[in-house]
Amino acid sequence: MVLSDYLLQEIGVYGTKCYPKEFGGILIGEYTEDFKTLNIRDTILPKKYKGESYSFERSITGLVEHLKKIYQLKPSQYYVGEWHTHPDGSTHYSNTDLNSMIEIADCKTVNIQNPVLLILSVNKSKVNDLSLYVYDNKKLLKYE
Ligand SMILES: [Zn+2]
Repeated sequence: MVLSDYLLQEIGVYGTKCYPKEFGGILIGEYTEDFKTLNIRDTILPKKYKGESYSFERSITGLVEHLKKIYQLKPSQYYVGEWHTHPDGSTHYSNTDLNSMIEIADCKTVNIQNPVLLILSVNKSKVNDLSLYVYDNKKLLKYE
């Protein structure tokens, strides 16, 4: 799995800017031809969102259109997962996080079996830590 420093930096800026509220977005990427490596290329931020200190619920409104456009331009790049912040928290996923990944994997429109979840622990000035998880069969496995 490849996640560029540039993209991480961008995500970090968005995440710390919204501190102390949670914030997040979706991840766009592509697999190599042999499907062994996932390159995470970009993030899309929700246009409408409800950020609370301990919950983050994004709205799919607007995202579907955006995803269609990306797909038309670059058919190999598509939705690969999610990221969100845990302000002053750990990078462990919550039950809510796991349940939302189960919903995503079950969603026929999204059509992805192994979405990724990136969790960033942030404070008001920087990203303290981050963890990347890969969903597989109702479990989130930490990617080292
Ligand atoms: Zn969370």
